Amino acid sequence: MHKSSIRVSDISAQYWCERQMELNYIHGPSITKEIKKGSKIHEELEGEINVPIILQPKSYADSLYKALYTSHQAVATLKEKGVTREVQIYGSLGGYKVVGKIDQLQTENGETAILEDKTRGNDTMPSDAQVLTHRVQVMIYKKLLDDVNSGDYSAKNFTMAYKTANLKMTDEFVRQLDANQVDKGLQDMGAIAEAFFNDMRTLNKISNTLYVRYLNQFTRKEIKMERLQYDRNEAQGIIMHMLKFWNGERKSLPVPENEKWKCNWCVFFGKQCTVWWQK
Ligand code: SF4
Repeated sequence: MHKSSIRVSDISAQYWCERQMELNYIHGPSITKEIKKGSKIHEELEGEINVPIILQPKSYADSLYKALYTSHQAVATLKEKGVTREVQIYGSLGGYKVVGKIDQLQTENGETAILEDKTRGNDTMPSDAQVLTHRVQVMIYKKLLDDVNSGDYSAKNFTMAYKTANLKMTDEFVRQLDANQVDKGLQDMGAIAEAFFNDMRTLNKISNTLYVRYLNQFTRKEIKMERLQYDRNEAQGIIMHMLKFWNGERKSLPVPENEKWKCNWCVFFGKQCTVWWQK
């Protein structure tokens, strides 16, 4: 699979079933009711903490601007309230552009802590296999945030990777920025990238404690708060493992035999994937 940009959610999906993640790219993901319900809760939580920003992008450049601007505003909320939601993160791993969206950042003991929300259909505890994929996700967020916070990945890297000098926002989107009273000096891709990466560089040190919060999607009750410790060597191992697939050094891996129970929930089982299909 030839890609220059990887989402953090793809990396975590590789740790559930890499073959399934690849098939999702080839055949299109199946959006389930649970995923839609989870998105709704994320929107509600964002609306409770961040100031809503109504911007309707009309082009790729508009969308990129919107992501940077709303994240810039979200970091201002973190500095003001000690907590914020939905912060975009950009970085580079093994030469690939990597992008993700962090559910929540919060100030804790003078540090910035990462929290990821996962919704569940009932109050049961997540399985170890599920927790592993979530662990991978927050570990990668931490690695990317560290890189931005330390200046290893800056606005300069971003503008080169995304070729922002060639991008022009639509006139209609610029009118929306005016209507939202966005500072004229920020109505430029280079300026908003500078502002956003400067925000991220001035965040407090990124905490080694990473949180995954499990919520019941119907009652919004907290089922469990998983506290994980960042391990730099483990993160490096995850990156090396995932890059072997993206670099084409190996084919996508199906689940091993002791995890073939996962196939029972897979839309590709017996169709596009017959590795564990009993004829
Ligand atoms: S059927 Fe099983 S091995 Fe194949 S893609 Fe789905 S989960 Fe992976």
